[in-house]
Amino acid sequence: MLATQINHHVQGGSLRKGCFVRLKKYQANEVKGKKILIILELDVLEELGEAEKIGEPQALESNAQDAPTKPAPIPSNGFYGDKKPQATPAQTKSLPSRNQAPSSSAHANIYPIEALSPYSHKWTIKARCTNKSDIKTWHNRNGEGKLFSVNLLDESGEIRATGFQEQCDTLYDLFQEGSVYYISSPCRVQIAKKQFSNVNNDYELTFDRDTVVEKAEEQDGVPQVRFNFTSIGDLQSVEKDTTIDVVGVLKDVGEVSQITSKTTSKPYDKRELTLVDNSGYSVRLTIWGNSATTFDVVPESVVAFKGVKVSDFGGRSLSLLSSGSMTVDPDIDEAHKLKGWYDAQGRTDTFASHANMAGATMGAAGGRSDPFKSIAQVKDEQLGMSDNTDYFSIKATIVYIRQENFNVAYPACLSEGCNKKVIETEPGEWRCERCDRTHPRPQYRYIMSANVSDHTGQLWLNLFDETGRMVVGMSADDLMDLKERDEKAAAEVLQEATCKTWNFKCRAKMDSFQEQQRVRYQVSSCSPLNFAVESAKLADLIKQYNLD
Ligand SMILES: [Zn+2]
Repeated sequence: MLATQINHHVQGGSLRKGCFVRLKKYQANEVKGKKILIILELDVLEELGEAEKIGEPQALESNAQDAPTKPAPIPSNGFYGDKKPQATPAQTKSLPSRNQAPSSSAHANIYPIEALSPYSHKWTIKARCTNKSDIKTWHNRNGEGKLFSVNLLDESGEIRATGFQEQCDTLYDLFQEGSVYYISSPCRVQIAKKQFSNVNNDYELTFDRDTVVEKAEEQDGVPQVRFNFTSIGDLQSVEKDTTIDVVGVLKDVGEVSQITSKTTSKPYDKRELTLVDNSGYSVRLTIWGNSATTFDVVPESVVAFKGVKVSDFGGRSLSLLSSGSMTVDPDIDEAHKLKGWYDAQGRTDTFASHANMAGATMGAAGGRSDPFKSIAQVKDEQLGMSDNTDYFSIKATIVYIRQENFNVAYPACLSEGCNKKVIETEPGEWRCERCDRTHPRPQYRYIMSANVSDHTGQLWLNLFDETGRMVVGMSADDLMDLKERDEKAAAEVLQEATCKTWNFKCRAKMDSFQEQQRVRYQVSSCSPLNFAVESAKLADLIKQYNLD
């Protein structure tokens, strides 16, 4: 029997009758007196072709008496470290000692979480509780009830478990976030209701009356909460309603306020936090209920969130799900890096908010994807050459920023939302034609032309203030100020901005200038490379070549 995570071998058509496979990970089970092998990982050896039958295979006799209760030698088992004395199960049974604490030999049959399925019986998992919900109650015509759920994590994966009614009473206090537990069948394994969960598993558990839950003596050897962070700068490219993990420095903490739900008419407490990270962006994140009222984290702490929902309200904003969790100053690389970055420069940086980006991304219907192209593809596909605007993304390196006479920024009107170019009519008097006003000084805004390159070609991109600020690493005002004092230093800042690689989101549009038509490529947002994500993309690409 194949575990769901290798369904792709069947769907992709590589696993066919008569083909050869190499078993890499499996679990031997017994169901109703029949032996079943659940395959967790296999390679199809396509180079060996297909054969009708090899040799003279014999059916294995099922012999329940001799069935070993020791687990099959699955590699991931080794992860749990040296188990305590491997007392044979038979001995354990012959010593019906009542006053003995359950020894770890009672947990000899430990399954990895990814091996759990409705076909697994008699199992124990050893897992860390990474999240525990509040107790939820319901009332309806059929009566009332309560439930709570926990997220459980081991080296192989994650699963959600729920306790209803009596199980809610008996188990709720036993579970603590962060602690490691042995959980043993009987316990129901069923298809996950994914709309209520941010856990990536096709199955979920429901505690039974007889489910055994024990806190493990040794608390280490089981991984901590795992995060899959999206940088704040990358949120633009995340679809609305996606659940993500995010880590950032707490820049601002709002007051608790109450809103009334439109659907349930119930009041909710909420609090808005502002997070920043080294992508140069800030984002608003809303927390709810107890988390909101009891929140007492000091600003400038690093906070990691697991399970936040992305909304497109005000550009991009985040909301902590009830199944999500929050960790303050977690002992993980990403947090230490952010702390270092914040102390060195982040504290004084200015940040672009996704709210400001809304204008740049609106205009097309929601859900638009900006597919990644190579520069050669952008040209070959003649993007922007028709009447429509084309949208695309490229990964490219800045090789040159055009800077004759330092024309990378223009003096703009200080009036809110105007941005029109102003002209110095008298010293200290900058006049805006549109507002019909004079300001004592302008606000410089970037308007840059940068030559970028990838392995297929080169392209000129236009960058405006938001993206220019990210690429240069300082505001145009600061740059022009520096230029007044030390032109050489300012030129060096621009020089520093080259030879850096970014993911650019662009639009291509036909432009007429002095009766000449040409395509202009305008950057609507950019983000520094996330090397882990890029490597995974490259690995996928390489896999498509089917090399071995
Ligand atoms: Zn103006």
